[in-house]
Amino acid sequence: MIKIGVFGASGRVGKLLLENIKDEKDMSLSTVFVRSSLDFSIDPSVLVTSDMHSFLNGCDIVIDFSLPEACETLLEEAIKTPKPLVIGTTGLSPHQINLLKQASEIMPVLYATNMSLGVALLNKLVYQASAALDGFDIEIVEMHHRHKKDAPSGTALTLSESAASGRGLDINKVRVSGRDGNIGERTEDEISVMALRGGDIVGRHTVGFYNDGEFIELNHTATSRSTFSKGALRAANWLSDKEAGLYSISDCLEID
Ligand code: NAD
Repeated sequence: MIKIGVFGASGRVGKLLLENIKDEKDMSLSTVFVRSSLDFSIDPSVLVTSDMHSFLNGCDIVIDFSLPEACETLLEEAIKTPKPLVIGTTGLSPHQINLLKQASEIMPVLYATNMSLGVALLNKLVYQASAALDGFDIEIVEMHHRHKKDAPSGTALTLSESAASGRGLDINKVRVSGRDGNIGERTEDEISVMALRGGDIVGRHTVGFYNDGEFIELNHTATSRSTFSKGALRAANWLSDKEAGLYSISDCLEID
């Protein structure tokens, strides 16, 4: 039985993780990290703690859906007390990504800005389309609920990287994430990533390839957040016996 520690348990995705884990036969919830206390009841066999050391020691693998600053603290502590990590938090800064890479040198780390099978496949399709549709303008639009804090979404940024690599471009040189004012014509290589926020939208991503006379749009819509929590559990099961290293959701799903 793999003992799972959940970091970010009182959040939208975290709460679903606690529910979904009950249906797993090879995994059980062992520890939950809290900043103060939980505002809901939990099985008394689960260690609920605000002590990071006890949290890490009480589980075999950690699943994190929190906030970038919280994830940073987790990574710093995990470097001292190594544990396999499934990281789902988005909006990580370059420093936090470096910490994640550093952690992956001493423990297995799976980092995915989107844990769904559909988005993993979408990234592959976007790479292929970007390479094949030479000269088409690439525009990405993402929509999320009103509470989302980071923009553009981690998923949209990953999709933009897939699109850029399909063209042999460096996304940091071609990404545009907002247009306003007299900005001039669209440049050939730019890849735009636009964020819309409202209501309770779980997550919608559209990658469009636009040319004179035709366009293609590839769209993924998440209709339930349990897509992410169940995906993270599948990832944890897969990661638990892996060597140290940085893994992606495509590695776990074996999508080529
Ligand atoms: P949320 O705001 O509902 O939950 C955040 C959680 O982090 C809460 O439990 C909160 O208590 C905890 N937290 C905040 N600061 C903390 C700290 N300093 N120390 C410890 N815990 C802290 O957010 P959410 O909608 O559940 O999303 C969480 C993260 O996961 C976001 O970054 C979101 O973008 C990302 N996300 C990823 C995927 C994916 O598939 N990878 C899917 C959905 C959301």
